[in-house]
Amino acid sequence: MAGEPQADCLFCKIVAGEVPATIVRETETTVAFRDISPQAPTHVLVIPKVHYANAGELAAAEPRIAGEVLSEAAAVAADEKVDGTGYRIIFNTGPGAGQTVFHAHAHVLGGRDLQRLV
Ligand code: 5GP
Ligand code: ZN
Repeated sequence: MAGEPQADCLFCKIVAGEVPATIVRETETTVAFRDISPQAPTHVLVIPKVHYANAGELAAAEPRIAGEVLSEAAAVAADEKVDGTGYRIIFNTGPGAGQTVFHAHAHVLGGRDLQRLV
C-alpha cells in the first residue's frame, strides 16, 4: 500500500538500513544520501521515508513531507556550498522521464556548469 514500506523497493531498503548508503542528512521524515553514480560533483538524492512511487503521488498524499523533501534539498545545496553558484533539483517522474527507482526522490545536482534544460 502507498505510504507503507515495499519489500522490493531499493530506497525503502536504504531507509531501513538494509542497503548501505552514504547518508549526508536525515530528518524524522526524510533521508539524503549520495547517488551511487554521480552525474556532478554534488549529486545527492533526497527521499521521503514513506514510500510513494513518485513526487506527484507524494505531494498529493503527504504535502507536508513533500515540502520537507524540497527544503532538505535546499539544505543539502547549502551544506555542499553549491547554493552560491547555483544547483538543480530534479524529480524524474515516470519511465518516459527517465525515472528508474519508483520511490519518490529529488536529485540535487551542483558543482559544475549545468546546461539550461527549459
Ligand atoms: P531516477 O533515475 O529514478 O530518477 O534516479 C535513481 C537514481 O538512483 C539514479 O541516479 C541512480 O544512480 C541511483 N541509484 C540506483 N541504485 C542506487 C543505490 O543502490 N544506491 C544509491 N546511493 N543510489 C542508487
Ligand atoms: Zn520505497
